[in-house]
Amino acid sequence: MLLLFAFLLGAIFGSFINALVFRYGTGVGMNGRSRCMHCNHTLGALDLVPIFSFIALRARCRYCGGRLSWQYPLVELIGGILSVGVIAIYPSPLAFSIFFVMWMTLLFAVVYDIRHTILPYEALALTGAVGLVSTVLSCSDGSCTLITPSVLALGSGVLAALPLFVLALVSRGRWMGWGDPLLELGLGWMLGLAGAFTALCIAFWSGAIVGLLLLAYSSWRSKRTLVPASALEKDAASYTMKSEVPFAPFLVLGAAVVFFFHVDIFTPLL
Ligand SMILES: [Zn+2]
Repeated sequence: MLLLFAFLLGAIFGSFINALVFRYGTGVGMNGRSRCMHCNHTLGALDLVPIFSFIALRARCRYCGGRLSWQYPLVELIGGILSVGVIAIYPSPLAFSIFFVMWMTLLFAVVYDIRHTILPYEALALTGAVGLVSTVLSCSDGSCTLITPSVLALGSGVLAALPLFVLALVSRGRWMGWGDPLLELGLGWMLGLAGAFTALCIAFWSGAIVGLLLLAYSSWRSKRTLVPASALEKDAASYTMKSEVPFAPFLVLGAAVVFFFHVDIFTPLL
């Protein structure tokens, strides 16, 4: 029952995140009803049920038949799964609220970065603040207690952000954007030092693998003259070594592996 509630809550936030990604900083106001991107028809409550509407409508607008983006159900589903993951680890209301806010903000930042290749600073301020708060809380199954954070716990965010900051600095924001070290600050505080560096390793490995796959794909594509099926495929087909690939998704992926599955490759080495 609790898990179902958590899933629905996460899915509803996922739906809200979808709207926010398309509206925030794009000149479209935050107020006003959701509309179809194709025909501008106002959407009713039945068109906006997370995940369910997309399946029931078979990925098409009820009014004009225009294709709906896979982003909608995907982000709603991931929102639900993250929420279930958080409540499974932290059932206490306070801890759940804190880490729920954290993961929903991270989900927003990732989707926004993929769409617009920029991280919204408001989201980074929030993940930083929540990460810092998590260093003064010690939460186990039932409850949370306030603790005095160790120097190491306070330093973990800064130390985890440092390599990314250096990469951004020496490349003047070309290899690594300025948002990434700011994002890592909050992740480092949330995960602690060993966890944060494990997450960084996973981020660089997965980023490198995806980068190589994209290079292979674009060289394969360049030998053929196929019409790209989507904007995302067009990006993938024109990928080169110099392309700007959002790195935040990989940072957050690494953090998720550490946070939800307690992967740690450094502590056993010490
Ligand atoms: Zn429509």
